[in-house]
Amino acid sequence: MPRVLLINPWIHDVAAYDLWLKPLGLLVIGGLLRSCGIEASLIDCLDCAQPAQRSVRPRPPVRRGDGSGHFHKKNLPCPEMLRPFNMPFRRYGIAPEALRAAIAGQPRPDAVFVGSMMTYWYTGVIETIAHVRNCLPGVPVFLGGVYATLCPGHARANSTADRVFTGTFTPDMLREMGFTPPQPDAAGFIMPDCSLLATFGSVPLLTSRGCPNRCAYCAAHLLYAGFEQCGPEHIVRSVQDWHRRSGARDFVIYDDALLIKAEQHFIPFAQALIRLGLPVRLHIPNGLHVRYMTDEVARLLKAAGCAAIRLGFESADERLQAATGGKTSNDDYLRAARALLNAGFTRDQVGVYILAGLPGQLAEQVAASIRFVHASGLRPFVSEYSPIPGTAMWDAAVAASPFPIVDEPLFHNNSLLPCRWEGCTPEDVHLLKRFARRPDAPYLC
Ligand code: SF4
Repeated sequence: MPRVLLINPWIHDVAAYDLWLKPLGLLVIGGLLRSCGIEASLIDCLDCAQPAQRSVRPRPPVRRGDGSGHFHKKNLPCPEMLRPFNMPFRRYGIAPEALRAAIAGQPRPDAVFVGSMMTYWYTGVIETIAHVRNCLPGVPVFLGGVYATLCPGHARANSTADRVFTGTFTPDMLREMGFTPPQPDAAGFIMPDCSLLATFGSVPLLTSRGCPNRCAYCAAHLLYAGFEQCGPEHIVRSVQDWHRRSGARDFVIYDDALLIKAEQHFIPFAQALIRLGLPVRLHIPNGLHVRYMTDEVARLLKAAGCAAIRLGFESADERLQAATGGKTSNDDYLRAARALLNAGFTRDQVGVYILAGLPGQLAEQVAASIRFVHASGLRPFVSEYSPIPGTAMWDAAVAASPFPIVDEPLFHNNSLLPCRWEGCTPEDVHLLKRFARRPDAPYLC
C-alpha cells in the first residue's frame, strides 16, 4: 500500500499561543488518502505532548485543562528584516530531535505532504522541509495549505518543496503526486481523520467548509471557493466515537460558518448531542456569525455544553461594517449578546473579536467598538489586522503599509501591526488591548 507522511510544520513567530490549533487540513487530507487506499500518518510539530517530544523533553509546557495552552518555544536568529522591531523570534513546537525521532519511528513513506498555515510562518515551513530532506533523502516533498495557496509564487521560489499545491486538496492532486485517485463519487464531504492524532487533549470537528460571505479582510473564499455542510448525524457520530475511543472531553469546532442554515445543520446536531448527554465541552474559537445567533441557537449552545465562544463582530463602526461586506450590524450584535447572556453564558465565556489596525482605521474607532462591547456585557478581544493577498482589502493594505508586504510575507504578521500609521500605532494597540481586558482602565487617546 502506498504511504504518505503528513507533517504539520513549526511556527516561527514573535508570539504564539495554542488556542486549540490543530492541523485540520492535513487531517482532512488523511481522510481522503485513506478513502482511496493510501496509508497516511501524521507528525504534528506543534503537538508538544506527543511521545517523540516527551522522550527528548519530558516536561510539557504549561497547558490548561481544556486542551489550550502554551507551546514549547526556542529563540531563533531573527530574520534581518525583523530586527528593527526588536522582538524575539522563536520556533514554537517540538524540538528538532523530536521531529527526527518521529520520522525515524515511521516506515519510509513514498511521499511527504507538508501543510502550512499563516503566510508569515513560512520560515517554519522551510525549516521543517530541510529536516525532512535530511531524514528522508530522495522522498518527494509536496507543500499545500494556507501559505502555499495565498503566496504560491513565494512558496515555489522559497519553500524548496518539489511541488506546491494551491487551494483545496483534491483527488486530482493525488494523480500529480503519482497515486491513483479514488472513484469519482468516493470523495464527498471528508471528515478530519482524528485517528492520525498522537494525543487527544482536544478533538477537532469540521462540520462545514467555506463561507458564503465575502468580508473584505478575510481569505475564507480563497481557501475554499464553495460552501458545503455535512449531515448533523455525522458530527454527532464523530463526537460520540471520539469520546468513546479517546476519552476526550474537549471538542473544538473550526467551521467558518457554523450557523448558516442552522435549522438543518447546527440545531439538529445540538439537539442530538443534548439527547446523548455525553460529558463533553464544545469550544468555538472561530468567530460565530452574530447575525444568526438566535435565542434558540444560544440556548442549544449552552445546553450542548459549549464552554467558550468567539463572536465575529469586528467593529461597531457602521460605515466600516458596510464597507467590508456588511456581515453584521450593531442591532444584530446586541440581539446576539442578549441571547447568549439570557441563555446563561458569562462574560468570560464569550469573547467578541474587534479588528484593529485596518488600513486607515483610527485607534479611537477601535476604542469605540470596545466600549460598545463592554456595554453589552460581553468581553472584547482585540485582534490586529493581518493583510492577506487576494482579499478585497489587499490593495488598500499595500497602499497603507509602511512595509514591503507584497514581497515579504513576514510583514503580514499581525503582531507587527502591518498597516500602522500615526492614527493607530503599536502603542495605541497596546492601550486598546488593556482597555479590552479592563473596562475600568479607560482608553485615552
Ligand atoms: S463571515 Fe467570517 S468567515 Fe465568512 S467571509 Fe466574513 S470573516 Fe470570513
